[in-house]
Amino acid sequence: MGLEDKIPGGIMLSTVEGLAGQLRQQSVWPATFGLACCAIEMMAVGTPDYDIARFGMERFAATPRQADLMIVAGRVSQKMAPVVRQVYDQMPNPKWVISMGVCASSGGMFNNYAIVQGVDHIVPVDVYLPGCPPRPEMLLNALLELQRQIREFSFGVNREEAARAAERAALGA
Ligand code: SF4
Repeated sequence: MGLEDKIPGGIMLSTVEGLAGQLRQQSVWPATFGLACCAIEMMAVGTPDYDIARFGMERFAATPRQADLMIVAGRVSQKMAPVVRQVYDQMPNPKWVISMGVCASSGGMFNNYAIVQGVDHIVPVDVYLPGCPPRPEMLLNALLELQRQIREFSFGVNREEAARAAERAALGA
């Protein structure tokens, strides 16, 4: 008979990491940060129709120091790129990034010198969201995927270094 069979009903076993992940996933604070038309759809998730508060994420932080999620909503111009990086660096760890829309993810239809061809050239991205623009439901779906990643987050992992190592491995370097 296993340990779980011996404990009475209503009691759940977990690890400290698992408990922290459960709590953390329900209290993500996005940075107030919109770059272009995708930001209109991002704002819509805060309305009663979509109700981001169901996931504990309605508190958009006016300062990056109180945010742990960056939603890159719209195309990133070359001039804006250093600012995006600075905002990311000012956010406390652990932190996450959603790339919202084709422009943020790959430059989209703006295949030109003025637009960064994917925000992952500047910051590590955890969830890519396709669409032009993605509907609010799609952003909510991306947030659910992010919650899954947060639940599985391990203490002591440098996520940026891990992302770089995965990229090097994918390139065979
Ligand atoms: Fe605008 Fe479409 Fe680009 Fe979003 S993906 S920033 S809606 S052009």
